[in-house]
Amino acid sequence: MSPRIAVVGSGPAGLSFARVLHRHGHPVTVLERDPARDARPAGGTLDLHEGLGQLALEKAGLLAEFQALARPEGQAMRILDTDGTVLRDWPPRPGDRANPEIDRGQLRDLLLGPLEVQWGRAVTEVVPEGRGGVLVRSADGRQETFDLVIGADGAWSRVRPAVSSAAPRYTGVTLVETSLDDVDARNPDLARLVGDGSVAVYGVNRALVAQRNSGGHVKVYAQFREPLDRHTDRGRHTDRDRHEGLGPAADAEANADAEANAETVRTGLLALFEGWAAPVLELLRRGTGFVRRPLHVLPASHTWDHVSGVTLMGDAAHLMPPLGAGANLAMLEGTELAESVAAASGPGELDEAVRAFEEQMWERAGRWADITMAGLERLVSPDPSEALALFDEVQPS
Ligand SMILES: Cc1cc2nc3c(=O)[nH]c(=O)nc-3n(C[C@H](O)[C@H](O)[C@H](O)COP(=O)(O)OP(=O)(O)OC[C@H]3O[C@@H](n4cnc5c(N)ncnc54)[C@H](O)[C@@H]3O)c2cc1C
Repeated sequence: MSPRIAVVGSGPAGLSFARVLHRHGHPVTVLERDPARDARPAGGTLDLHEGLGQLALEKAGLLAEFQALARPEGQAMRILDTDGTVLRDWPPRPGDRANPEIDRGQLRDLLLGPLEVQWGRAVTEVVPEGRGGVLVRSADGRQETFDLVIGADGAWSRVRPAVSSAAPRYTGVTLVETSLDDVDARNPDLARLVGDGSVAVYGVNRALVAQRNSGGHVKVYAQFREPLDRHTDRGRHTDRDRHEGLGPAADAEANADAEANAETVRTGLLALFEGWAAPVLELLRRGTGFVRRPLHVLPASHTWDHVSGVTLMGDAAHLMPPLGAGANLAMLEGTELAESVAAASGPGELDEAVRAFEEQMWERAGRWADITMAGLERLVSPDPSEALALFDEVQPS
C-alpha cells in the first residue's frame, strides 16, 4: 500500500514535489491556502539556473516545455550610476541558457499540469502522533492523518512548528514593488531603459531594480534599509490573518488601503531616491500599485532534530534574501525528495529517505543562505561600489 503523503503549499517546492511523485505514479495530496489557482497575482519573473531549477524541471520531465516558454534574453543585465551613466552592460551571450527567466505564473501552470490541488485548505496545525501518523488540521475545521507531511508552505510556515522553533527575522532591508504594463506601447522610453532583461541602479543603502516579465510587463523593486516599523508590522499581520483563514477580507482591506496610500508611498519613495537621474525616477513615477515586502530570513544554519513523518523544504526550511536562489532550491528539493520517496519501500526506508534528504538540503541551503545574505549586504550597502564589485565577480566575462 502506498504511504499517505501530503504536501502543504503549492509554490515551486510543493508543486515540484507533487509533480515528480505523480510522474512516478504515487498518489499525493496537495493542500493550498489560496482559494484558487489565480486567487492572487503570481508575482514577478524567476531565473532558473542550469544546475538547480532547470535540473528540477528535467527530473519532472518538463525541461523542453520550460525552454519553449523561457526568456534567455531576460538574462541581459545593465547597471547604471545614480546619474544615469551606464556602468556595465551585459547582453546575454548567444545560446546562453544558464539562467533564463520565466514568469512565476507560467512556471506554476507548467508544474501544475495534471495535478489536483485542494484549494482553500489553509493548514493551521500539524501534530506528529508517533505510529498513528501525522494529524493535519485546516482552518475549515477538517482534519486528516498522513504518513508523511511536507511543509512547503513558505516563509510563515504552519508546518514548521512541528519540527522547529525557528522564526524568520527581519534583515533590515525592505523592498517596495511596483509595476508597469504594456511597457513597449505605453512607455517606450522606459522599455528601452529596462531592455530585454534587468536594469539596476545602486546608491547609498538603496537600490532600484527593474525587470522585464513577459507580455511587456515590468516589475520595479525599490530596496532600502529601514527599521521594522508599523508598515512592516502590518505586512506580517496580513500574512498571519491569511493563515487564520481571514485572508480574502484582510487582503481586500489591505489592497484598498494600499490604493489609497499609493500616492503617499510614491511620494515617500521619490523623496528617498531624490537626486537620482530623472529617467530612473520615472520608473517610480509611472508605476501602478505598491506592495511592501520587508525581507525576512531564517538562520543560515537552520536545522532540526528529525521528526518522523514531518519535514520541510523551500522557504519553510531556509528563507533567504531574494537573490535568485530560493525558488531554484525549492524546486530541486521538491524533485529530489519525491524521487527518494518514490524509491523507498516500507516505512523504515521512507523515514531514512527523508532523513537523508534533510541532511543534503541543510548542507546546500546553508551555503546559499550565506551567499545570499552576504550578497544582500553588498547590494544594499553604504558603499555602492560593493554592488558593482559583486556583479563583476558573478557575471560571465
Ligand atoms: C521579489 C522576489 C523575487 C524573487 N526572485 C527570485 C528569483 O529570481 N529566483 C529564485 O530562485 N527565487 C526568487 N525569489 C525567492 C522565491 O520566490 C522563493 O524562495 C520561493 O517562492 C519559495 O518557494 P516555496 O514553494 O518554498 O514557497 P512559496 O513560493 O512561498 O509557496 C508557499 C505556498 O504555500 C501556501 N501556503 C502558505 N501557508 C499555507 C498554509 N498554512 N496552508 C496551506 N498552504 C499554505 C502559499 O499560499 C504558497 O502557495 C524571489 C522572492 C522575492 C520576494
